[in-house]
Amino acid sequence: MWVDHSRQNRFACSTCELELAVYDHATEREWRHLDSGQFLTNLHAKSPRVNCPEHGVLQVRLPWAEPMSRFTTLFERLAVDVLKECDVLGASRLLRTSWGETWHLMQRAVARGSRSKSRAPRRISSRREVSWPGPGLHHRGERPRCPCGGVHRG
Ligand SMILES: [Zn+2]
Repeated sequence: MWVDHSRQNRFACSTCELELAVYDHATEREWRHLDSGQFLTNLHAKSPRVNCPEHGVLQVRLPWAEPMSRFTTLFERLAVDVLKECDVLGASRLLRTSWGETWHLMQRAVARGSRSKSRAPRRISSRREVSWPGPGLHHRGERPRCPCGGVHRG
């Protein structure tokens, strides 16, 4: 599955949230996503980068994955649900991930849990939401949308 954006889309600096035009794109990456039927599915995209006058050239935050993750947020949620029911080896078999990847997914979930517990009270974010994928998203070809906003190709 490939995700792209329209030329008009503007993106927020990942540090100060200033909305800017696209400066360039990082090299294409892939994220493991929820299976489509019985097929392993990876989401591919070239992450936009913005050139913030204060923070320089930075990659924008992606709506489907946390920074540095090789998995979409939806896949990580599924992994957490599976890990609640079985051990790492069992989860890796069900998720079709390696033992190391599954362990890493569990560690990330534990870290997220620890961070959210230490954040009290929860602060309401004032940052502006930038829709990507959103109304400005365009896809190569007209195909049905996936829950992540992407479309399947090929
Ligand atoms: Zn900035």
